[in-house]
Amino acid sequence: MSTVTVENGAFRPPFATNEPVLSYAPGSPERQTLERELERVAGETIDMPLVIAGREVRTGRLEDVRMPHERGHVLGRAHLAGEQEVAAAIAAAQSAWREWSQRSGAERVAVFLKAAELLSGSWRATLNAATMLGQSKTVREAEIDSAAELIDFFRFNAGFVQRIYAEQPLSGPGAWNRLDYRPLEGFIYAITPFNFTAIAGNLPGTPALLGNAVVWKPSASARLSAHYLMKLFAAAGLPPGVINLVYGDARVVSQGCLSSPDLAGIHFTGSTEVFNGLLHEVSGGHYRSYPRVVGETGGKNFILAHASADIEALVTAVVRGGYEYQGQKCSAASRLFIPQSLWPRVRERLVDEITGIRVGDIRDFSNFMGAVIDERAWRKHAEAIAAARSSDSLTLEAGGHADMSRGYFVHPTLLRTTDPGVRHMTEELFGPIVCAYVYPDSDYAETIGHIDAASPYGLTGSVFAADRAAIALASNGLRYAAGNFYINDKPTGAVVGQQPFGGARASGTNDKAGSVWNLMRWISPRSIKESFDPPRDYRYPFMA
Ligand code: NAD
Repeated sequence: MSTVTVENGAFRPPFATNEPVLSYAPGSPERQTLERELERVAGETIDMPLVIAGREVRTGRLEDVRMPHERGHVLGRAHLAGEQEVAAAIAAAQSAWREWSQRSGAERVAVFLKAAELLSGSWRATLNAATMLGQSKTVREAEIDSAAELIDFFRFNAGFVQRIYAEQPLSGPGAWNRLDYRPLEGFIYAITPFNFTAIAGNLPGTPALLGNAVVWKPSASARLSAHYLMKLFAAAGLPPGVINLVYGDARVVSQGCLSSPDLAGIHFTGSTEVFNGLLHEVSGGHYRSYPRVVGETGGKNFILAHASADIEALVTAVVRGGYEYQGQKCSAASRLFIPQSLWPRVRERLVDEITGIRVGDIRDFSNFMGAVIDERAWRKHAEAIAAARSSDSLTLEAGGHADMSRGYFVHPTLLRTTDPGVRHMTEELFGPIVCAYVYPDSDYAETIGHIDAASPYGLTGSVFAADRAAIALASNGLRYAAGNFYINDKPTGAVVGQQPFGGARASGTNDKAGSVWNLMRWISPRSIKESFDPPRDYRYPFMA
């Protein structure tokens, strides 16, 4: 008897709604559970094997996984892959693909709906604790990421699959046309960044949902959450080999994957520089199919205020949009454009708020910010602040403190510049450093032109204005400057099913995570025409 479920019917998965974000207020049950889990996870030093074909693989080449906010504390030791393990992971994916690619959509969707259910329940505290400790997220930042967003990806994707499968062609008389939504032929290489556990789950998860098999390389700075995510996939019933977890040197893993003729796609999120390198390598490769390449990359996200803006809403958006998760969201605001008439009050309010922000160990729930991810990031931010201090065109308005004696702490920093072309206004720093340029109120239109042209990116941006004409000017003038554009709201916090996420230009291929558009990239439709009464004579009537 077949082990594959035999089912008839056009499936309709449960209607998805966004997962509620729990408050973790003092005394709440979720807080008590999480605190116990934080203690458990922090109290262990776990062994973290690769997972290939469902089996744990230990190479003995180990790398420590540490807490960014307490860098002496080792949470685990990850085994690193070499060429041999990468080859084994590719072989495992290809072997699993044979059966997985033939399973019914309902069966694949059920696995990920189960993962959502587990994560919404008993697994929530584990993934949140791993994300907090391993990536230095406050409880709220972990909750909106490793719980809410990832659950949403899994649940909403089910509905997207159904919509895609329902999209079928017309049929003429005597024939039936159908579309068969085939998974890609070969394996998908998923490369994930440190900053979102939801992205780490979604990048291998979405291609797998559509019947593909995956080699997944998580970020070296987010291995702890990757370890638990892999266990979650297994607990949800994902068959061995469909997703293979490979820790290791990015170049070694990439070399193995990109040199395989069976590479069918790359699902990448990370920096523009790394993605450019991958694109370059893929373009020189020889593959059985042209690989699908989806890359969501960097940003230099703006907040533009018009003289009619609501100052309190603007200040809140800058603080949350610029400093939450230490400014390490791809969507984080890092350049501000404030009219001269508003600047004195905006400056005063921002300096006031920033000075009151608490930075420290995320296990102390009164902190608004944790540490930046690693020493490399810390050095980059400390250097940018030092450069600002000694620059003629930059003034330090608030913050500027960076200390790595215990953990990689960088305090929220506000700079002001007289030169909107300075690198702090154009390059992605990916830390809690926001730079403001104050423009003459009469130069609103010119400022829009500058924002559009000054940086190579096009990820997110906001305009704050009460004046509808000012909103229209910004919306039109910045149409290509942001793939996610916000009016009177912060540029971060996109929600699955509500604001499909991604940008173009140097910010990526804009395949919109959290929407049906991303899923389309992981299938290769086959058109089938079946004739019920095919012609039996090649001659046409006009020939008589
Ligand atoms: P990163 O580019 O340093 O790393 C991303 C991934 O690529 C990691 O898994 C890393 O190990 C891997 N990598 C590094 N070098 C590689 C190589 N030579 N070949 C193959 N893989 C390689 O990025 P990060 O620091 O993890 O994440 C931050 C970046 O990600 C920022 O630029 C941010 O804007 C971007 N990001 C973008 C989005 C988006 O949706 N646009 C979302 C999150 C993060």
